[in-house]
Amino acid sequence: MLNQEAIDTLAAQAVAPRGHLINGRMVEGDQRIEVRSPIDGSVLTTIAGGNERDIDAAVAAARAAFEKWSRSGPAFRKKVLLKLADLIEKHALELAVLGVRDNGTEINMALKAEPLSAAGTFRYYGEAIDKVYDEIAPTAPEVLALVHREPLGVVGCIVPWNFPMMIGAWKIAPALAAGNTVVLKPAEIASLSLLRMAELALEAGMPEGVFNVVTGKGSVTGKALGMHMDVDALAFTGSGGVGRMLMEYSARSNLKRVFLELGGKSPNIVFADTADLGKAAKVSASGIFRNSGQVCVAGSRLLVEESIHDAFLEKLAESTAKFKVGNPLQLSSDIGAVSSEDQLSKDLEFVEQAKKEGGAVLTGGKRLLAETGGSYMAPTIVTGVRPEMTLFREEVFGPVLAVTPFKTEEEAIRLANGTDYGLASAVWTSSLSRAHRMVRAIHAGVVHVNTYGGSDITVPLGGFKQSGFGRDKSLHAMEKYTDLKTAWIDLA
Ligand code: NAD
Repeated sequence: MLNQEAIDTLAAQAVAPRGHLINGRMVEGDQRIEVRSPIDGSVLTTIAGGNERDIDAAVAAARAAFEKWSRSGPAFRKKVLLKLADLIEKHALELAVLGVRDNGTEINMALKAEPLSAAGTFRYYGEAIDKVYDEIAPTAPEVLALVHREPLGVVGCIVPWNFPMMIGAWKIAPALAAGNTVVLKPAEIASLSLLRMAELALEAGMPEGVFNVVTGKGSVTGKALGMHMDVDALAFTGSGGVGRMLMEYSARSNLKRVFLELGGKSPNIVFADTADLGKAAKVSASGIFRNSGQVCVAGSRLLVEESIHDAFLEKLAESTAKFKVGNPLQLSSDIGAVSSEDQLSKDLEFVEQAKKEGGAVLTGGKRLLAETGGSYMAPTIVTGVRPEMTLFREEVFGPVLAVTPFKTEEEAIRLANGTDYGLASAVWTSSLSRAHRMVRAIHAGVVHVNTYGGSDITVPLGGFKQSGFGRDKSLHAMEKYTDLKTAWIDLA
């Protein structure tokens, strides 16, 4: 499916200014926000900047649609979601190219991780919804107690810019499958593919008002959604700071449920007894540098056993040097653009800070391809990172790897758990017992063993500690979007 000519043809097309999608119609909105492409800094198009009125209209449409959608049989919702999955697949390249022009992810990753992953997610929850049963409780025989699972109502979804379709689908698909209606607020620098996806939902037969998209700034549009008195739940992926605000909005409004998927500072632990250090180096480099490190589960802290520290870093630097950073729409690029100039400045600032605090830049640490007008950064490895340093503790969300040596398994565990985060992790070892001990000891939502990354829709994703709560993906995600109701029936 991926061929350069098809990509170039799509990329040459102008992107029309976009409005909100409310109650099945494009609504222009009062304000416009310029969308700049990180590929070359050019203005790609404009999107609407939503205000309280737009959010009110979208929530009212979602509320009005809720009754009918929630009472439609699972078979109907399944049909619509499966059709949407088919349409996303049919338009996959168009959606991927649009998304890449917006956020800069390399196309060979974006196609799979964005539209194709989103299609899979809609298909999974569409398929699931007519296979989940309610319960009959084991009460005394004179009573019949039925435990129903009911949808919550209107779900507000707020998502980030790194993988908008994939992460959006993780929330939208189970929420809709369970019978809720949705108002989605995408990130202002990655709204285009989600708006197109919402159009495809209408084409798939989704009734008007069931899935609405309001674009705009977090502090205005996102806040209005978070504070709304008629939104029943907020499903969020993004930074811890904004996650905290959403909990505050909930407390100050209607106590809506809040589910948070937040950041990470995930440890990737390499023991000296790793069977294939070459593979470990190659996979570790991908695990931090693909999509310019803008991956929530990125292995951004390398903890490496002291006895192999230098040898392993040599292999890692070799693997890193093989990555070609460049225009994300070129199939030859392994790593695309950083999502925005702001993010690039932040990434470079982290490197400067690490140097001031005593870290050494082994490779990278600088801006690339400035002549293109785009935002590109060299994959960066910083060695000698100690636990008290900023780079050890704070999430960069960019292509910057912090390296820390350790001597013993106990020390590795202490270092691994030594941040406020607990999203992902990995352990490289040829000892099965050690692998199991580490899986138990690490406080994180996932522990990879002898690999980094790798997942699918069947397993839950989410964090421990300040990486959030609530899980995306798998059947467990349905728990967030439904409520339990008991019917207690006296049979006597
Ligand atoms: P962000 O928190 O700045 O923004 C996320 C979303 O929140 C955007 O849509 C934004 O417009 C909105 N927002 C911002 N301020 C708001 C406010 N005051 N009220 C309501 N909404 C507001 O995060 P980001 O920069 O878009 O994404 C990067 C962060 O997301 C990183 O911390 C990363 O680790 C995290 N992330 C986590 C996961 C996960 O699954 N755990 C996945 C991807 C990204």
